[in-house]
Amino acid sequence: MSAGATGTPPDSVEQQRVSRGADTQLDRTRSDIVALAVAMAAILMFVGNGGSALTQAIKAMAGTGLGPDRLLSSALYLNIALIIFGWRRYRELTGEVTERRRAEEHARQLAEVDPLTGCLNRRAIAEEINRLVAHAARQGEAVAAVMFDLDKFKQVNDVSSHAAGDALLVEAARRLRAGLPDDALLARVGGDEFACVVAFDPLQEERINRLVAQLVDDVSKPVAFKGGEIETTISAGIARHDPGDGEDTQALLHRADIAMYHAKKQGRNQQCWFELSMETELRFRSELEEGIRRGVANGEFVPFYQKQVDLESGEIAGYEMLARWNSPTLGAVSPEIFVPIAEEIGLIGQISEQLIAQALDDARSWNPKLTLAVNISPVQLRDPWFAQKLLKKLVEANFPPSRLEIEVTESCLHGNIGLVRSLITSLQNQGVTVSLDDFGTGYSSLSQLRALPFDRIKIDRSFVSTINDSPESLTIIQSIINLGTGLGLPIVAEGIENEVVLARMRELGPLTGQGYFYGYPESAESTEAELAQLNLLLEGPKPEPARADIPAPIARTA
Ligand code: C2E
Ligand code: MG
Ligand code: MG
Repeated sequence: MSAGATGTPPDSVEQQRVSRGADTQLDRTRSDIVALAVAMAAILMFVGNGGSALTQAIKAMAGTGLGPDRLLSSALYLNIALIIFGWRRYRELTGEVTERRRAEEHARQLAEVDPLTGCLNRRAIAEEINRLVAHAARQGEAVAAVMFDLDKFKQVNDVSSHAAGDALLVEAARRLRAGLPDDALLARVGGDEFACVVAFDPLQEERINRLVAQLVDDVSKPVAFKGGEIETTISAGIARHDPGDGEDTQALLHRADIAMYHAKKQGRNQQCWFELSMETELRFRSELEEGIRRGVANGEFVPFYQKQVDLESGEIAGYEMLARWNSPTLGAVSPEIFVPIAEEIGLIGQISEQLIAQALDDARSWNPKLTLAVNISPVQLRDPWFAQKLLKKLVEANFPPSRLEIEVTESCLHGNIGLVRSLITSLQNQGVTVSLDDFGTGYSSLSQLRALPFDRIKIDRSFVSTINDSPESLTIIQSIINLGTGLGLPIVAEGIENEVVLARMRELGPLTGQGYFYGYPESAESTEAELAQLNLLLEGPKPEPARADIPAPIARTA
């Protein structure tokens, strides 16, 4: 590997770097020249005048002539002294300058080079990339910025060791460098992130594709470490810059970064070219994240309620609480969009707790026979304190656990099933009901369904709303109802959108239903107004919330 691949196109970057170093040394070089000039002047004087004085001095010493002229001999001695002084000073200064150059080079290396991998660092590549792009533009070449990120590097660090992580980084850098052309830049720009910048013929984008594919392949081979092997893969994002594309080269790295995240999202161990839509998507995503953070702080998430009705009697059995967010900057955002993001940024627990507290407060004034169902994210089920937190909320709100139902989706069945099971059991021991939401859309097997002690199953709305149009939907609904009957689990049908669907569902057995036919999710005020009309609101003032100890568990077999 040549020095160039760590970062230097031959005739621009290195030359400029040298000239930058030379600039800082100009003053000292001037001192060199002064010292050398003194010595040279003295030599010239010696040649001009000293010659005759010296001849006279030699003649006088040999006894063949008169003593030298006093003035001339003084000049001669001065001359010799100056030559010796000038020469010594010149030697000293040269040594000093060499030493300083060495120290400066060392400092530059520390400032520009990543000590672990020997690649350029983030600061250095930010400077070098401008020069490379300008150089490429003069040659009529395009430039590709490629951002690489090792997949699941954190796991290597956490599970193996930091030494293993370091070994992986060093080897990844070595393989990248070995596969890159000599005039490409390579930098380590983050923990496990590498950036490379390479010039190419604008008509030959395919060559970059092949180069990056080869690099992804090379780095993804196992790395030997302490007699074993570390497995890894790498994702890459590529952005291109063409000769007339403007000056903003930093945006180039940023775009490569966006493309790299896209490659990760697509399933890792692959490469992806930047497209403008990705930038828009990313901007929207970060606006959402920002909005969610602000929304939690400002209490912008509010509970809406959709009624659940006994299909036979037509009576309201309870309500499902559905989160609503009317963002001041983004407008109304669906829970299907903000819930997964809140899960990713670790805020779903906080949002859910705010909503549940509000819902318990609202539902306290409803007729006590009405249940309240709340959706719980699988992320919350991984919190070992979740059951305690929920029970504390029930106690604080003076709300009977038997009126609360939590809805979990099949995705909670993946991961630590033991933890989920003990959590569900402990909630049930307190009297809380647990139902399996959106049944039929996930991957849960029947044995998993048996492993977790659910109280109810909710058939997903996509089957129910199409029952009259799709024989498959009908078959699936019938099977789920048979399964529920066999396991002794009551069934709730979501997605009852109209009377025709309702009539068909009624034929299938005693069910609870929910859907637009009965009503859309409504605000707390609208729900309260409707319940008041139906005489389903408690009379008198709303019961006070109470502070009490968590009730003793109701024994129940899981
Ligand atoms: P879900 O729990 O299955 O909730 C039912 C969804 O179906 C709701 O959508 C509801 O508005 C919609 N829906 C109700 N009736 C009908 C109908 O007749 N036809 C059709 N096509 N749809 C109907 P929404 O409110 O947009 O919520 C979507 C999902 O977001 C929920 O699905 C739930 O999984 C999640 N979600 C909502 N609120 C929360 C929350 O507070 N926490 C968590 N973790 N997830 C929530
Ligand atoms: Mg639900
Ligand atoms: Mg559902």
